[in-house]
Amino acid sequence: IKGKYDIHHAYYSDKLRQSLLSEQVILDSIKTALLENQFEIYYQPKYDLSNETIAGAEALVRWNHPVKGFISPTDFIPLFERNGFITDLDIYVWETVCRQLHHWLDNGQPMIPISVNVSRVDIYNPELTRILTGLIKKYNLKAEYLHIEITETAYTENPDQIISTVLELRKLGFIIEMDDFGTGYSSLNMLSELPIHVLKLDMRFIQSENAKRNRKNILSFIISLAKWLDLQVVAEGVETEKQAQMLKSMDCNYAQGYYFAKPMPHEEFENHIKQHNSEIIDEKDPSKDSN
Ligand code: C2E
Ligand code: MG
Ligand code: MG
Ligand code: MG
Repeated sequence: IKGKYDIHHAYYSDKLRQSLLSEQVILDSIKTALLENQFEIYYQPKYDLSNETIAGAEALVRWNHPVKGFISPTDFIPLFERNGFITDLDIYVWETVCRQLHHWLDNGQPMIPISVNVSRVDIYNPELTRILTGLIKKYNLKAEYLHIEITETAYTENPDQIISTVLELRKLGFIIEMDDFGTGYSSLNMLSELPIHVLKLDMRFIQSENAKRNRKNILSFIISLAKWLDLQVVAEGVETEKQAQMLKSMDCNYAQGYYFAKPMPHEEFENHIKQHNSEIIDEKDPSKDSN
């Protein structure tokens, strides 16, 4: 008969075994995941705050795991970065997005740029520019339709290499966005060194409570600074009308967040764009109401 300590011991070692097991389950299933199309790309629209039109979208990957169900990228991206599988996954995401853009172009749909995430690992891949140019050639796209999101924390690992990669990507016509801006240790230094086009403000700045006056002042200051540097600003994680109004009053260019729309599968995203744009046209065209 086991005493209670044994039970506790069994409980903890069981927990430990479970977490090791689940990491192993994930590692084992990575190889088949791409082959079996278990990854799905969701699109989250980005809104122009001056007129509320959809000005772009971000591609965000989801994993429909056959055993574990829906897994969020925050749970598997770090693991993929550790074992190198992130490179295959990112390339898969970029290619799917390029194919999607090509499809919209073919169907005469109004084109909006799509932002893709580039892992801190892949930004150091010497093949990166070759892979990206290969994709836009293959799908007959202008580079400007593909926005490249890199993270501030990746920059600090080897600034010189990132600067030269970004310069090369810029020359090729890609638009470079700095994701999660304000979370690293050298944000201002990075701004003075790295020739990016767009700042994406980390949601921490936006979601701070009204009471936190300092945060609000810092937010307003960063937006002004971005203007001085000729950068566009996107606010991430906008969840309330109040936040959207505040950002608009601070002259922020774009907003992305649950208040406007959550990330959604591509069919839903296409419908969302059509519906949203027709609503905006209705509002602007009074003749539509006059019968
Ligand atoms: P991120 O690139 O900063 O993406 C923004 C995250 O914020 C997304 O989480 C999005 O769903 C979430 N979000 C958007 N609006 C709101 C809001 O109003 N409130 C809150 N609380 N959250 C909001 P998601 O999709 O879970 O992705 C998490 C992170 O995983 C991303 O952060 C990105 O770093 C990474 N990721 C996602 N897809 C990819 C990919 O294809 N490749 C790579 N390398 N990383 C990816
Ligand atoms: Mg991003
Ligand atoms: Mg972000
Ligand atoms: Mg993030």
